[in-house]
Amino acid sequence: MPPWWLFLTVGAAAASAASINPSTFTVPGAFPTSVFTKYYNQATATSAQVQPVISDPVTHETYPLSLTDPNHIPQNDTVDPHPLPPVASSKRLLDSALAQVQSISANPVFANNTCAQCQSILEVAKFLTLAAPEQGPAFFVGVCTALKLASNCNVMFAIQNIGSVVTQVISNADVGGYDGQAFCQNFMGMCPIPPTSPLNLTNWFAKPKPNPLPAPKQRSGKRLNVLHISDVHLDPRYATGAEGNCTTGTCCRTNAFNTQSPNATLSPAPRFGTFHCDSPMALVMSALQAIPALTGTKGNGFAWTLYTGDLVSHDPESQLSRQYVEYTEALMYDLFKKMLGSGPVYAALGNHDSYNQAQDTPHSIGGGLAEQFSWNYDHVASLWQHEKWLPQAAVDLARAHYSAYMVKRIDGLRVISLNTNLWYRANYFNYINMTNPDVSGMLRFLTDELQDAEDAGDRVWIMGHVLSGWDGTNPLRNPTNLFYQIVDRFSPHVIANIFFGHTHEDQLSIFYANNATTRNADTAGAVAWIGPSITPLTNLNSGFRVYEVDSATFEVMDAHTWKSDVSTFPALDSQIQVGPSYAYEYSTRATYGGNVTSWGANDPLNATWWHHVTEAMEADPSLVTTFNTFQGKSSVQTKPCTGDCITAKICYIRSGSASIGQNCQQGFGSVQS
Ligand SMILES: [Zn+2]
Ligand SMILES: [Zn+2]
Repeated sequence: MPPWWLFLTVGAAAASAASINPSTFTVPGAFPTSVFTKYYNQATATSAQVQPVISDPVTHETYPLSLTDPNHIPQNDTVDPHPLPPVASSKRLLDSALAQVQSISANPVFANNTCAQCQSILEVAKFLTLAAPEQGPAFFVGVCTALKLASNCNVMFAIQNIGSVVTQVISNADVGGYDGQAFCQNFMGMCPIPPTSPLNLTNWFAKPKPNPLPAPKQRSGKRLNVLHISDVHLDPRYATGAEGNCTTGTCCRTNAFNTQSPNATLSPAPRFGTFHCDSPMALVMSALQAIPALTGTKGNGFAWTLYTGDLVSHDPESQLSRQYVEYTEALMYDLFKKMLGSGPVYAALGNHDSYNQAQDTPHSIGGGLAEQFSWNYDHVASLWQHEKWLPQAAVDLARAHYSAYMVKRIDGLRVISLNTNLWYRANYFNYINMTNPDVSGMLRFLTDELQDAEDAGDRVWIMGHVLSGWDGTNPLRNPTNLFYQIVDRFSPHVIANIFFGHTHEDQLSIFYANNATTRNADTAGAVAWIGPSITPLTNLNSGFRVYEVDSATFEVMDAHTWKSDVSTFPALDSQIQVGPSYAYEYSTRATYGGNVTSWGANDPLNATWWHHVTEAMEADPSLVTTFNTFQGKSSVQTKPCTGDCITAKICYIRSGSASIGQNCQQGFGSVQS
């Protein structure tokens, strides 16, 4: 039967309201308590809704008042299951991470933002390397392949190569922030370089810079001869006659070839070396034979020698090992001792003097990883002690400070050697917490040593491998920005000179006061000499330098540079009567001094003098031409510096930090091609 209201609409004409009884009904005010058998509260009360006791006929559970009590509503259901997916296997994590990389790569939301894309990928990497570090290397091989970052991704990022390092770094870095941006810029080319972080020097220096500065020391007039050699890059695997002009890998090796002529050697490696190869033993011995003969130090040796790093050859990562590095260190330091006569050699570690190449870990990484490179610091420190170049105190410092040390000489000079891998852009470990300019503590060590020297009235030479400035392509901004402020604080009264290597070229950096806001003769405070390399790599001649140094002030009074013309080496192959010739290239004072008329014959080649030289270069670009020739050690392969190169080069000379050097026009920093 249809419901009654249907009659109301369908049969409205027939029915009338008066026929439905009753027409109203008033419900009783009291709750009909008989409906439920039990109540949690007084069912007849008017102040609250009734709370019947309900028993479930199926589960036989009696529901508690707490489930419906309006005064105590439960906030978290901790009783019922809330299921989660199962823990993924390590392999599944890897597969998922790689699938996410594919999604991120294909997602049009990132279309024009490779930087966001890269940092997103690193975020995936971070969680994978935390959860399943054993899958890190495989993941980076996958990313490298997906993004076509290299042609040999599976070799490059294998755990035996750089895979373990990258895994450590990504799991520790702030990949969504500054660390990630810098990583994506340097290693993946997908982000702009992040800006120099604000530097807070409050409390960095124990004392303000003395004002006025202490009176300068008086020159003794006695000159010491100090040898500066750099970047030997001994290649003990050099194969005479192998392809010297190869297209991939390390040339002058039996496995090297040129893709234009895979079966016939185009340019057989000469016995004494060539432009695209590291130094064969024959070249290293030639240089070490020539040095005493040319510098008048046969028998008496040098006052001391600076070795600014890179002993080991430029092998691909897969061909390197700790043993190979230690072999070269042991061989070369012993050779220096045998060939250079008395006088200590103060050495700095180069980026190639490590395994993995260029890698060194700040101790702050913690745990079992903190000391992972100490085998090398211990090895070189022990060798330096074995050769009697360093006293126990300096050896102890080297072991504790990443091979960095301070040696206090009895003549009032302190030499501070730094491990510049800790500011080198190719050291992956520098990409952890990099807004801190001194994660490793090495610059704290340097500052404390400089303060100690200032308090004692001693002068300091600082030495390291990777230069802090020039065009800014090698060092990182934040640590070298701090280094620059440290140099300013302790110049010119404490720091007498700074020495670097690494570029293989004869270069120079001037440091100014107040972060170089004004660069003139008055604000120029310190100078870094970048020494020429023994290795010809790449397209360079082989060279070395001797400084004439005042024995009281430790200022450089003149610098003499020698070179050997690598283009003549092939002609030496067919005979054993003569080896290479090393020839005098130039005197720094004689070359540029004529243009600095305010300078007397007994005034030093300090920062002020060098600033005057750059002013002379601005007035007479032919001086830049000269500088450019010497930069490549007069190599026949060095291209001339003209046009924009002139002003860029002067700008590089005036740049002592990456932050400053990167403001110069880029592209003219190197004469290698
Ligand atoms: Zn080098
Ligand atoms: Zn280097």
